[in-house]
Amino acid sequence: MSDPPAQSSFPRRLGSYGGDTAGPLVIGIGGMHGNEPAGVFALQDVLRSLHSRRLPFRGKLLALTGNRAALARGCRYIDEDFNRLWGSERLEGEDGQRAEPTSEEQEQRELLTAIEIALAQRQGPAVFLDLHTTSAAGQPFVVIGDSLLNRRFAFGLQAPVILGLEEQLEGTLLNYLSEQGHVSIGFEGGQHASPSAVENHTAAIWSVLTTAGCLQPQDAYERTPPEQPVCPVLEIRYHHLLQANDDFVMEPGFTNFQSVRRGQLLARDRHGQICAPESGQILMPLYQDQGADGFFLVRTVRRFWLRLAVRLRRLRLERLLPLLPGVRRHPDQAATLVVEPRIARWFVMEIFHLLGFRKKRQQAGKLLVSRRWHEPGTFEAGEPNR
Ligand SMILES: [Zn+2]
Repeated sequence: MSDPPAQSSFPRRLGSYGGDTAGPLVIGIGGMHGNEPAGVFALQDVLRSLHSRRLPFRGKLLALTGNRAALARGCRYIDEDFNRLWGSERLEGEDGQRAEPTSEEQEQRELLTAIEIALAQRQGPAVFLDLHTTSAAGQPFVVIGDSLLNRRFAFGLQAPVILGLEEQLEGTLLNYLSEQGHVSIGFEGGQHASPSAVENHTAAIWSVLTTAGCLQPQDAYERTPPEQPVCPVLEIRYHHLLQANDDFVMEPGFTNFQSVRRGQLLARDRHGQICAPESGQILMPLYQDQGADGFFLVRTVRRFWLRLAVRLRRLRLERLLPLLPGVRRHPDQAATLVVEPRIARWFVMEIFHLLGFRKKRQQAGKLLVSRRWHEPGTFEAGEPNR
């Protein structure tokens, strides 16, 4: 086990603004991965600007760092990926047999304490913005669980929106926060060291503060914000997960959202060539040593399906699901349904997605799906909280 350095150049609490009036609590987190400091720099920039301009502000902005020890060393993580430890088994310590905590487990205790103190003191709904960058080049994008309220924040960011990552990655901070009912937005600001990544993150923070109602739009933007282009929404279709020691090497030159054809050579490992299983766009091809996700393939979701989801959720059609044969409520978890596999076969996951559910896991041959939810009364002026 490695020892985290005694000194870290970034404090856990980067700073805060506001807090004197009731209103939303926006928590920005930078550096969940230590080789991704752009979000930290952007949070510092926004705090400096807010303090120097003394802007009127509803609620509070709190800026926190993620993996401080890894940030100090400029690596993704020290002992284990900090953004995969937030599943309930880990948090409840069910598999915590080790005598000595990992560097990331210590970070988690500190970060969780900082978040819980802020949540206990808040005077309004909480909004989390988790800031990342990618090893590949390419334009920024947004990652959300598909609730209508998350969509509202995501569409303000003027970048493509990715749905379905939560079903691929276990134990992310974003999933943990979503399951607590908070608005939770992931933002990938560009390539790790690119100067535009800090700018993109800065713009994302101003946008979230405006959508949350903390700031007036004319204060957040020095000039009129550009007309919002209609940004595409894409869903994850394929995830290439790495196994230990498989010597994965991405073919050079892929950028985020680059189109690939079915059968195209994408990477190699010790078993041979890895080709695209279907046509689509590549996302987050891995060009660094640490990390277990080789690449993702995404595909655009048609506007029709996005609009249909809004209508079905407003009608609250999900209430009818337990009437279907083979679908029943989970005995202990209010937002979860248990689906028999014979139903799951024809009653495709897309229907559950439309109604605001995510695949949770397979358990004893049955599929568990859970409905995304937000705390009652969250931003009631907007969409219903589903
Ligand atoms: Zn990251």
